[in-house]
Amino acid sequence: MTNIGVLELQGNYALHHKIFFDLGINSKGVKLPKDLDSVDGLVIPGGESTTMSLLLDRFRLRKPIIDFAKENPIMGTCAGLIMMAKKIENESKVVPLDILDITVNRNAYGRQIMSNKVPINLELNNESICIDATLIRAPKITALSDNVMVLSKIKNSPAVVLQGMHLGMSFHPELDGLTIFHEILFNSLSK
Ligand code: GLN
Repeated sequence: MTNIGVLELQGNYALHHKIFFDLGINSKGVKLPKDLDSVDGLVIPGGESTTMSLLLDRFRLRKPIIDFAKENPIMGTCAGLIMMAKKIENESKVVPLDILDITVNRNAYGRQIMSNKVPINLELNNESICIDATLIRAPKITALSDNVMVLSKIKNSPAVVLQGMHLGMSFHPELDGLTIFHEILFNSLSK
């Protein structure tokens, strides 16, 4: 049976389980390295990347997740995207996992009170669909390598990226009940 893990160290993980539940996909919480043994993919949720980075080390999950990413798909939303980056601009507190070959700038869409929802176009299989992107102290992707595909942009900045089987986005699809990204993650398991 296929199981998708949701990293439960900190942040907005509960709603990711709800999205998987609504899709009829099994999901399990990941809190310890051994939890990765029984999942086939992983979601790193939004939250606070400084705390997440500390907890990854405290729970000895850093290397197991980096190893897991070599064989299994990972999806990061907001702080999860920050954790998946290769580099973070002007930052020393967060040590990213280097799963996506991108550079991010934390909080670049403004402070908490500037949280908002913007319509974006998502380019998938030669089709363009319009979705809402909820931005909460969101990171901006400021650089990326040629092997990272941009599926969506906010103004001129990439907002959804795909590198091989790994997916990342600056916003919170789970807050708007958007299932499309969880489906992409799940579908990449059957390839
Ligand atoms: N600004 C947060 C950080 O840098 C991310 C915010 C979020 O996940 N909504 O970790």
